[in-house]
Amino acid sequence: ESGLTINRAFKVFQSSEGKEVKAINDVSLAIRQGEFFILLGPSGCGKTTLLRSIAGLESLDAGEIYLGDQRIDQLPPYDRPVNTVFQSYALFPHLTVAQNVAFGLEMEKKPKAEIAKTVQEMLDLVHLGEFGGRKPHQLSGGQQQRVALARSLAKRPKVLLLDESLSALDFKLRRQMQVELKRIQRETGITFVFVTHDQEEALSMGDHIAVFSKGRPEQVGTPEEIYNEPANRFVADFIGDINFVDAVKSADGEITVEGVPFRVKQDISDLPMDAEVSAAIRPERITLTAPRESALTGTVETLMFMGADVRCEVRLTDGTKLLVRLSPPYDTAVLHEGATVSVEVEAAHMRVVER
Ligand code: ADP
Ligand code: MG
Repeated sequence: ESGLTINRAFKVFQSSEGKEVKAINDVSLAIRQGEFFILLGPSGCGKTTLLRSIAGLESLDAGEIYLGDQRIDQLPPYDRPVNTVFQSYALFPHLTVAQNVAFGLEMEKKPKAEIAKTVQEMLDLVHLGEFGGRKPHQLSGGQQQRVALARSLAKRPKVLLLDESLSALDFKLRRQMQVELKRIQRETGITFVFVTHDQEEALSMGDHIAVFSKGRPEQVGTPEEIYNEPANRFVADFIGDINFVDAVKSADGEITVEGVPFRVKQDISDLPMDAEVSAAIRPERITLTAPRESALTGTVETLMFMGADVRCEVRLTDGTKLLVRLSPPYDTAVLHEGATVSVEVEAAHMRVVER
């Protein structure tokens, strides 16, 4: 077992104005061996600094990093069984693809035959088996990216660190590379720690995701947990579209929105009675029906046909605007601008967060 453990890590920088920036502010993480782990968060939240600290390009002010039971945060970068793929994948332009992949192995003075075998394996792995003799400029951007990946994997690191590695690629290529990266991670069984600010990328690729804000993880969980059970308002807001509606705790396990009670699945026993909270509701968890008694009531303000679904804005009686995403078959009786509707939400899909 050689998972990556980060224990109470801190890193402070001095900004150019002389102010202290807590880039890493008490981070503890347990990353399992062989998993695809994502560090997700807005720009400036400390993702790159954490990755550089794991690689040894940055030294922590406090805290420890372990690979299995080996402490690695005191080791020089080249002694860590870790490799990094940066966003700019800087291949040597005068070397062939095969020579680029071989470069690190030749530095280690590995036998020629072993190098050739590893290079071919790595190029096959990234589906560039026939491209070893080409120069980087004869490849597309996505192919160059895969060469960079093959080069990083050739030394068989225990952990591969990837910092926004796909963000330079256009949308379609990026989608393809996400699938490729996932496959390569599975086939090699190497632990990937992948940094992104793109929540869709994180949800689609991660085994576990740590959602960062201001130098610290707000929540660590599977994509389903992060999406369906956000731990707080920041996580709910950062991941996907969501509505926040004022609510009050009205009984144990119950909140009330505009006088309508909902029994929530979430444990809210530590909240005091009458606590003013927000109910976080995903747009696709709402349905609109003909008006009925004792339901949330609203008016359809706008309708947008998006192809696969319809997005509507609904104004509740108290003025709150809700984003609603309806899937076919549509109830055309209520789907027109100006319609008075009953807003139905499954209480199991409401999350109680701070207001
Ligand atoms: P992210 O990768 O999530 O965008 P970074 O780790 O690059 O975030 O940066 C985290 C914070 O630390 C930011 O406020 C950034 O300006 C600051 N920072 C990063 N590196 C340095 C540095 N070498 N000197 C001063 N401040 C830095
Ligand atoms: Mg960064």
